[in-house]
Amino acid sequence: MKKMSITLRITLWYALLMLLIVLSVLGFMMVISDSIIQSNAEGRLNTIVEYNIDEVEYDDGELEIDNAFESFKNGVSSLVYTADFLRVEGRLPDSFPEETEFVDSQTRLINADSDRYLVYDRLLTFKKHPSVWVRGVLPLDTVSGVTDSLFQTALFTLPILVVLAAVGGYWITKRAFRQVRVMNQTVESITEGRDLSRRVPIEDGRDEIRALAVNFNGMLERLESSFEAEKQFVSDVSHELRTPVSVILAQCEYSLGQEPPDKETRDSFLVVQRQAERMHRLIVHLLTITRLEQGQFRIVLQNTDVSALVLSLVEEAADLTPGYITVRHEIQPGIYAPVDAPLFSRVFQNLSQNAIKYGKSHVIVSLWAEGGKGFLKVTDDGIGIAPEDQEKIWQRFYQVDPARTSDEAHSMGLGLSIAKQIALLHHGGITLESKTGEGSAFTFMFPSF
Ligand code: ADP
Repeated sequence: MKKMSITLRITLWYALLMLLIVLSVLGFMMVISDSIIQSNAEGRLNTIVEYNIDEVEYDDGELEIDNAFESFKNGVSSLVYTADFLRVEGRLPDSFPEETEFVDSQTRLINADSDRYLVYDRLLTFKKHPSVWVRGVLPLDTVSGVTDSLFQTALFTLPILVVLAAVGGYWITKRAFRQVRVMNQTVESITEGRDLSRRVPIEDGRDEIRALAVNFNGMLERLESSFEAEKQFVSDVSHELRTPVSVILAQCEYSLGQEPPDKETRDSFLVVQRQAERMHRLIVHLLTITRLEQGQFRIVLQNTDVSALVLSLVEEAADLTPGYITVRHEIQPGIYAPVDAPLFSRVFQNLSQNAIKYGKSHVIVSLWAEGGKGFLKVTDDGIGIAPEDQEKIWQRFYQVDPARTSDEAHSMGLGLSIAKQIALLHHGGITLESKTGEGSAFTFMFPSF
């Protein structure tokens, strides 16, 4: 049940409830209508027989049945019998047993074969003449036929009503939940694309879901403006810090060039210089990230020979790699794709620098194209990333083990976040496969020709 959608659950519930109501109403109707119809039939039979009694009399010693005697009326057959049970008037229904016993003024139910009859007899006595029986017979199938046809009509129409109710209910709930689905898709696309400018379309009407959508959009509006304000703040601060850090760096360079008086002074200048360089890199990263997120980076997608670009990047990286690590490559030649070469290179550098930093003995760079997509994969045999960290490494400033890398000037936990942003700008993405202690493989997927 829990696996079904809410729409289906509501529809099923109402359809079953409707079916239950319909069946109980039908049963109730059958019981009530049967007894009402039977008592109506009794009334009809008795009235006709009582009426016919007046039309039977003796005239000059002769039994005379008046013309007004109704032998057959409203399904009731009326008959006249002499005192020794000889029929002198009327015709019996085919299967009614002629020998049925006579009982005065009592309505009885007689079963004959598969037919049922209501019978009402009246004994007429005269002072100077023999008695006469008047019998009324009403076949009950003509009566229950009404119930039967009622039942048949109900049997045909009620399932249609149940189906109509189910289909109608399903349609209404599906329509109502459409907006919820759209909201869900919006949240998904915000999560995937981090695009807070998206809004849920508001439909006409005044229902609760519409109110939820309006509130949801309001919340997105506020979130977007606070995120924008945060990004602006980071961007402004980074911008403001750039000049003082450049001045510190320039002063360090100048002072170091002036032959400091002693070793201690030189060492402290070197420490200041290293830290200032670290700050400088941090500022550059922060500015890159905020520009990427604010959409200020004008990405220029140009048809590029990605194979040649990656080959030159690998050669460059191999030159700067420490001797204990070898960089190998498996590059499929002739892959062309619409990329922004400097940003594409940035992704490669961020991934390869990590692979070299965390790898043990070798790094493999692979490039191939398949089904309109290009894949750049950087594999290392390093420490790997634990499953619980694999989601988090894409966050800004996240470092799995800061103590391990804090002494490194360029470890800030920003490289992957930037790479992911760039991949999104290329309408692609980055995925990770990693096993602790065995190594990691990052794959940058991008549309290719
Ligand atoms: P950093 O500048 O610290 O490398 P990144 O955003 O590039 O920042 O990476 C975030 C964290 O992900 C790193 O601190 C590191 O713990 C982990 N990481 C990234 N690449 C690898 C890799 N190839 N092997 C193991 N861990 C990695």
